[in-house]
Amino acid sequence: MSLTHLSDLDLVANFGDLIVDEREGLARQLEYLAELDRRKLFFEYSSLRAFLVGQYRMEEWRAEQRVRAARLLKRFPEIKAGIESGKMNFTLLEIAQGCAHREKLTDPELAELLKDLAGMSCAGAERELARRFPGSVKLPRDRIRPLTEDLSEVRFVANEELLEKLEDIRGLLAHSHPGLSMAELIDILATEYRTRHHPEERAKRATARAERKDGTQEKQDNEGEQATETVKTPTVPLDAVRRSPSRRTVHELIRKQGYQCSYGDPITQGRCQSRHGLELDHLKPWSLGGKTEISNLRFLCRNHHRRVSFQQFGESWRYFAKHRGFS
Ligand SMILES: [Zn+2]
Repeated sequence: MSLTHLSDLDLVANFGDLIVDEREGLARQLEYLAELDRRKLFFEYSSLRAFLVGQYRMEEWRAEQRVRAARLLKRFPEIKAGIESGKMNFTLLEIAQGCAHREKLTDPELAELLKDLAGMSCAGAERELARRFPGSVKLPRDRIRPLTEDLSEVRFVANEELLEKLEDIRGLLAHSHPGLSMAELIDILATEYRTRHHPEERAKRATARAERKDGTQEKQDNEGEQATETVKTPTVPLDAVRRSPSRRTVHELIRKQGYQCSYGDPITQGRCQSRHGLELDHLKPWSLGGKTEISNLRFLCRNHHRRVSFQQFGESWRYFAKHRGFS
C-alpha cells in the first residue's frame, strides 16, 4: 500500500491513530492471555508460553514477556490504563518485576512501584530504582578487553555529572561532527587536551610564537613608524536587516536564556533539556516580518524547531525548511 498520496497532516494523524490502536489491542490481548492462563486453555502444549510459540509462531522471549505481563495485569488491573496510554510498556513492567523479585516486595509495594514508574523512560526507571535500593547496585570495575589487534572494548562507570558534560560537548559538536559515537567524542577530547597540555606540543607552540615575533620585529624595523597605526571601522547594527543575528547578539542570547532548547511542553510545562545542535528560531517568523532581535529570538533543538514550524506553517513548513532557518 502506497502512502505517497497522503498529506503530511494526514500521515502524522493516521500514524498516531495506529499507535493508539496498537496499545489498546495489546492491553486487550493481555486480558485474554490472563483468562486463557486461568482456564489452562493451551491444548497439547505444556504451557501458555509454549502455546504462543507453537500455535502463533511467537518468538520465545516475546511469548515469555507477554505471559509475564498478562499475569501481572491479572494481579494489578490498574496497569491496563497505563498500557493503553503508552505510559507503561513491557520493559518498564520487566524492570518493576525484576526489582520486586530481588527486593522481595509485597504486593502493595509492587503496586506502588508500578504507579511510580509509569511514564518514565527505561533509563529513568533504572535510576529511580538505584536511588530507592542503593544496596542492590553493584558497580563494575573499569575494564579494557582486547577485541582485535587494533580494537578494545572499554568499560567504565560514569556519574550523572560526567554524562552531562559529555552530552554538552556532543551537542556543541553536533553541527561539525554529527552522530559522534562515545569513542569518537573521547578521541576528540583527548586530542584537544593533548594538543593544549602536552609538554611537547606546548614547546612547539612557544617556538612558533617566538619565530613570529622575530619576523614581525624585523618587518617593523624595516618599515619604520607607519606600521603601528591601525584604522578602526565603525560598527553598524546589521541585525535589524538580517535573518541571522550577529555573533554578539547570539552571545547575549546565550547569556540571557542559556544554551538550551526553549521549547516548553504544553502539558507538563517542562522545558526541553536538549543542548544538542541547537538552532535559532524567530518567535514571530522572519518570513512574516519578525525582527532579528533578542526579544524575538530563542534556541530550539532540531526536533522542536521542526514541530514549531509544522505548527506555524502546516503543509508548507517544508518550503520554509528548505529555504534555511524555517522562521
Ligand atoms: Zn527541544
